[in-house]
Amino acid sequence: MSESDCLFCKILNKKIPAKLVHEDADTLAFEDINPQAPTHVLVIPKKHIPTLNDLQPGDEALLGKLHRAAAQIARDRGIADRGWRAVINTNGEAGQTVFHIHLHLLGGRPMQWPPG
Ligand code: AMP
Ligand code: ZN
Repeated sequence: MSESDCLFCKILNKKIPAKLVHEDADTLAFEDINPQAPTHVLVIPKKHIPTLNDLQPGDEALLGKLHRAAAQIARDRGIADRGWRAVINTNGEAGQTVFHIHLHLLGGRPMQWPPG
């Protein structure tokens, strides 16, 4: 899927509405439309990268920024100390449906391990 018909690029470019939670120079965070936990926020890089398999040299800091943004949101929601989960699904068997890297920030309820 190219950038021009990527759902999350459309959210980034404000062509599709979303409930924004956080924005900075490199990342955007918004509420998942189909929440799986009391907190379910998606944190995306502004750079269109389809999957973790597509990471290039130089993308390392960006991945760190996704996690730092998620941790800040978890703190803001009061779940940082209780616990929360960061999930990035990659390709079909993992359940990836939108091919623009996104970190799922899930929290506010007990989580099971292993995931289904
Ligand atoms: P994944 O299955 O890991 O690719 O996750 C895609 C996520 O995007 C799912 O949790 C969907 O509920 C969510 N999603 C799909 N469309 C939208 C949208 N328009 N706004 C917010 N979240 C969305
Ligand atoms: Zn995209």
